[in-house]
Amino acid sequence: MNTKEYEVIILGTGPAGLQAAIHGARSKVSVLVLGKREQSSIYRAHIENYCCLPNISGDELLQQGIEQARRFGADFIEEDVLATSMKDDLISVTSERGTVYNARSLIFTIGITRNNLNVPGENALRGYGVSYCVDCDANFYKNRPVAITGNGSAAVHGALTLTSYTDTVHLISEKINVDELLERQLRESAVKTHEGRKIKEIRGDNAVQSVLLDNNVSLAVDGVFIELGAKGAMELAGFLGIQMDENFRHIEVNRKQETNVPGIYAAGDICGPPWQIAKAVGEGCVAGLEAARYAKKFR
Ligand SMILES: Cc1cc2nc3c(=O)[nH]c(=O)nc-3n(C[C@H](O)[C@H](O)[C@H](O)COP(=O)(O)OP(=O)(O)OC[C@H]3O[C@@H](n4cnc5c(N)ncnc54)[C@H](O)[C@@H]3O)c2cc1C
Repeated sequence: MNTKEYEVIILGTGPAGLQAAIHGARSKVSVLVLGKREQSSIYRAHIENYCCLPNISGDELLQQGIEQARRFGADFIEEDVLATSMKDDLISVTSERGTVYNARSLIFTIGITRNNLNVPGENALRGYGVSYCVDCDANFYKNRPVAITGNGSAAVHGALTLTSYTDTVHLISEKINVDELLERQLRESAVKTHEGRKIKEIRGDNAVQSVLLDNNVSLAVDGVFIELGAKGAMELAGFLGIQMDENFRHIEVNRKQETNVPGIYAAGDICGPPWQIAKAVGEGCVAGLEAARYAKKFR
């Protein structure tokens, strides 16, 4: 079997993994990054809320990050990892082509997958009025009618946030499931709540124009925010006994981005909301430095 050795391995080439690679490689440890750039959540997005880069595409941001990390010596392999294991202090990952990579330290930056609504129009209008992130895109809908759908606190917080951008916010929810205080804030706000309802279809030619509810009411909106939560790629973390939150969506870390397993770190969306580049990059920096420090102990 083909086996290669590194000091630090990073799973994921999104903002968290790239920043971890930059700080890890600059700490003079050998670093391997595995993952696919086009699988990063930010790949197709346009970004205007990331500090110092007011107008950049996700694709370009990632490309620049990869080149920057390469200049400091990080290696990149565009493959997913299918299995992880640990024996004594040696961590092994197996890539999709069957190569085994060993390291002293491992950083999970594998991001999350947002849950889809799975209705007609959603895929075609993604990025053309269909959004999965209020914090990222609310600013594009100033004074324009919008809908948001979901049942939990992310949807309700999202709806309340949207009221500071526009007067017309429809919240479509099968059953609102939030604490009393948040529910009161919602009732006292300008949000138009459609409880017990689902979106049946998102309509529009080249951009969202309306949503059709399951009672056949049509709401004229320019944007639809889908806030149905997210799922992480947790099996890999499970193999290693890494502690997760109670819903098995996020990896639990401390302020050093350490998991409960020595030598294993996590950063970015996989550690929980807010799902934002700025947070991913900050956590990636800490994880890269800490993982390098840990790996050097084995020299
Ligand atoms: C449509 C959209 C618009 C957005 N707009 C903004 C915005 O304007 N501003 C903002 O701050 N944030 C925005 N976000 C959020 C932002 O994209 C995320 O917060 C950020 O990408 C998180 O970085 P990350 O590195 O944690 O994960 P990601 O960027 O999602 O990267 C995850 C990486 O892990 C890799 N991976 C997954 N599984 C494996 C595996 N088994 N083996 C190896 N690698 C694996 C993937 O290939 C990928 O490279 C947006 C998100 C979306 C979906």
